[in-house]
Amino acid sequence: MSLIRADLDTLPAYVPGRTVPGAIKLASNEVALPPAAAVLDAIAAAAHGGNRYPDLAAVSLTERLAHFCGVDAERIAVGCGSVSLCQQLVNSTCRETTDEVVFAWRSFEAYPIVTQIGGAVQRTVPLDGEFRHDLDAMAAAVGPNTRLVFVCSPNNPTGPAVTDAEFRRFLAAVGPDVVVALDEAYFEFVTDPDAVNGRTLIDEHPNLVVLRTFSKAYRLAGFRVGYALGAPPVIEALRKVCAPFSVSVPAQAAAIASIDHSAELMADLAPIVEERTRVREGLLAAGFTVPVTQSNFVWLALGDAAAPFAAHCMDHKVVVRPFAGDGVRVTVSHSEENDAFLAAARAFAG
Ligand SMILES: *Cc1c(COP(=O)(O)O)cnc(C)c1O
Repeated sequence: MSLIRADLDTLPAYVPGRTVPGAIKLASNEVALPPAAAVLDAIAAAAHGGNRYPDLAAVSLTERLAHFCGVDAERIAVGCGSVSLCQQLVNSTCRETTDEVVFAWRSFEAYPIVTQIGGAVQRTVPLDGEFRHDLDAMAAAVGPNTRLVFVCSPNNPTGPAVTDAEFRRFLAAVGPDVVVALDEAYFEFVTDPDAVNGRTLIDEHPNLVVLRTFSKAYRLAGFRVGYALGAPPVIEALRKVCAPFSVSVPAQAAAIASIDHSAELMADLAPIVEERTRVREGLLAAGFTVPVTQSNFVWLALGDAAAPFAAHCMDHKVVVRPFAGDGVRVTVSHSEENDAFLAAARAFAG
């Protein structure tokens, strides 16, 4: 008998982007700007109430989100980042050790971790030749034991978004008896009019859950707030399995203030969207293989050169996120930081 679950020995660790003093951090898909001044003020004001527990049900934030998203409050669950909501999804759909979770690979590194913690089996489906989800193959991988499917659009770490047409076809193929989680952590960066918008599909599909976050476009990664949109029974289940009080007092206040100032915050994303085209074209011109991206990062399909490339960038004081043997993900930031990265990348290519 061992004290601890033996299977945890094989649990992959979540690898956070490194923070290196004096180096440019392009490893975690954060926006480089700090939270907006008005958001910081709201956080400071909320901190005065930090001796009290947060609102367990996050009623004010949920109502604000409901209004903001144009849905009823019973269709929204907030969580301690959308990573936590991913874990809650596994915990609310899987119980038997034969239960399966399907997702693309490579995709978000939290999916295998939360699947294994939940005691479920992962079934991964390779991305296609353009580093996109192969949704037909994913639908084919759904079997009688499948309880949950994660679809990540835009896909972290490769960048392409799923189209509305292909996602509708996928939902029709999967049917209503399996929960489909559409992870839209980078939704606010999407400009392709053909890309899926999960919000528009939740009324028709009670098995669809859409995950969004304040960590990326809203610049609150350190505060930990995400939310799910879906049918009331699924949302209720997410709330049941949530660790109590997991969204803190300042986090709730920060998210509310961010909704109040969302127009300004979204306007700040325009330069990043422009820069992603410039960065990708610069990399293509230097000879790298870089898929199209609808997010705030680019993927360099470097294979075995991924780790050496990341070490080379580190020598140039740029921190990127390598996935050894596969590729490197680099956050698109403001032009000065992007130029530093492009210079390092060109030096590697040359
Ligand atoms: C960053 C990210 C999240 C959001 O994480 P939080 O827990 O909300 O900070 C979720 N999914 C994907 C694919 C991500 O890249």
